[in-house]
Amino acid sequence: MRTRTVAGLLVPSLLLLASWAVQGRSSASGKPAREEPANAGKTTQIKVRVLEGIPSQFQARIEQQKRALSKVVPPSVGLAPRAMLNLTKRWTNGQTLKIAFKGGDANLHKRIADVVSEWTRYANLKFDFGVDPATGQYRRWTPTDAEFAAEIRVSFNQPGYFSLVARDSVDPQIARPGEASLNLEGFDKKLPSDWKGVALHEFGHAIGFEHEHQGPGSMCDFRFDDDPGYVAATDDFGQFVPDPAGRRPGLYTLLGGPPNNWPQAVVDHNLKDLPATSAYSGGAFDKLSIMKYFFEDYMFISGTASPCYTDSENVVISTLDKIGAARVYPRALDAIAADDQIRAKIFDVLSKAETLPATTKKHFNHLLDGLKH
Ligand SMILES: [Zn+2]
Repeated sequence: MRTRTVAGLLVPSLLLLASWAVQGRSSASGKPAREEPANAGKTTQIKVRVLEGIPSQFQARIEQQKRALSKVVPPSVGLAPRAMLNLTKRWTNGQTLKIAFKGGDANLHKRIADVVSEWTRYANLKFDFGVDPATGQYRRWTPTDAEFAAEIRVSFNQPGYFSLVARDSVDPQIARPGEASLNLEGFDKKLPSDWKGVALHEFGHAIGFEHEHQGPGSMCDFRFDDDPGYVAATDDFGQFVPDPAGRRPGLYTLLGGPPNNWPQAVVDHNLKDLPATSAYSGGAFDKLSIMKYFFEDYMFISGTASPCYTDSENVVISTLDKIGAARVYPRALDAIAADDQIRAKIFDVLSKAETLPATTKKHFNHLLDGLKH
């Protein structure tokens, strides 16, 4: 997939399992890194990017878990089922999250650790990289682990970038101890120019943040339909391109063709089925969020005027990201107590729900016990 030189379109991957294709990032210079195909002159407006890095086993398990939990009636604390689902994923306030690596050397691990630890300045969480003071080596995990070596298990050898969202990383219904929960493809070979932004984005998922553009307040006016009268035209790669009159294919057409070949239902699922589970609960849509993808202007009905449009990729944690992280993981004791109270009610209901499998109930019972400590 990486041999393709087309670039341009980046769309969100599956709900809840966030993924960021390697090709999907632009350079740290702030301008999208583009390697134009030979026929770029004809297709400058629209170039479709390959979406990669979504391990299908996670997708299946997450969907299954979501369906099971959606059947449980939330406790009467004014929570929508989806808000409940999101709360079950969050780490505990003040929790220390262990992080382990597979592949890479201590120098790389340190660089990643130094960058992503910025999140813990805002969120009331701690990162423990398990550095051995004698050797300087960072904690490692292996595919043969029988128990979770760490909450966040980083690998570099899977396709693309992705991270499970918070507790999904250690939910036995979703992740196994021998599976990576976060992947940064190729970082162990060569760091891409925008690696800091990528690492911050993926660790944002790892602490519980969803995509900003998929939140309930998203202002992304995606242009799903073709321009009126569009006559299908393709380039040398078989990708849909504007017709001779300049009419553009919409996202259904674009993503329905190579290289993604998504049926309309998949496009809807990935772009329309917005979870009401934004990490920035109650916050305004933030187009500068590190958790928002870069979208080319042609993806929006209003083009560059779209409230979702930025002229370059977001590579740093935004001001609203910082506020959101502090809101989701507060430090004030009364805020923590209020948060714990809501979660205790949810865990109590889920640990007794008849419709859930025994292992899931046990998982939530364990979380409930953790709150009572
Ligand atoms: Zn993402």
